[in-house]
Amino acid sequence: MYIYKEYYNGLLPNKPDSFLLLHFMNKAYLLLGSNLGDRKKYLSDAVTLLEIHAGKITLKSMLYNTAPWGVTDQDDFLNQAVCVETKLSAQQLLENILYIEEKLGRIRIQKWEARTIDIDILFFNSDIISTDNLTVPHPFLHQRRFALLPLSEIEGNFIHPVLKKSVKILLADCDQNLVVDLV
Ligand code: AMP
Repeated sequence: MYIYKEYYNGLLPNKPDSFLLLHFMNKAYLLLGSNLGDRKKYLSDAVTLLEIHAGKITLKSMLYNTAPWGVTDQDDFLNQAVCVETKLSAQQLLENILYIEEKLGRIRIQKWEARTIDIDILFFNSDIISTDNLTVPHPFLHQRRFALLPLSEIEGNFIHPVLKKSVKILLADCDQNLVVDLV
């Protein structure tokens, strides 16, 4: 967790407590995916909307082309991992992600169907969250090469708070044989 010091009006009065504010910034790792329409544009629009509705995108992986999973009779996915620094809680971040998905034309009918955009929360700090609508770390992360590969590019040494292994090690251990290519 990061602590930023912010000074009012650029002044440094003698009373320290009167000017020092502590903001707690959360660091979340997200996986973006698209397999419908102009996939590159959906990913870049998602990044733009995340900057508006979530926080600063501090890291972005390259784009990876991934054979479809779940329902395999559909087009390839384009995937990208990003890191966002945000003042939002995990639950607020999820709500804003759902709003962004809706804004980018995501329609949910069937599980694992083609989608203009999908945004998953992979990690939220090193928090472990299990509620009705949110599980973090993402429950399938360690089984999915298409998530581990872009994530390892931007933060390979991050330790999975449940499995206690780095992303790099999880990738080396992952036996999913889906084709994942750099674009
Ligand atoms: P899908 O977009 O099909 O991957 O599913 C999205 C739904 O999964 C959301 O409405 C969330 O309530 C739920 N969900 C649970 N855990 C996560 C997570 N770590 N990241 C994103 N969505 C999640």
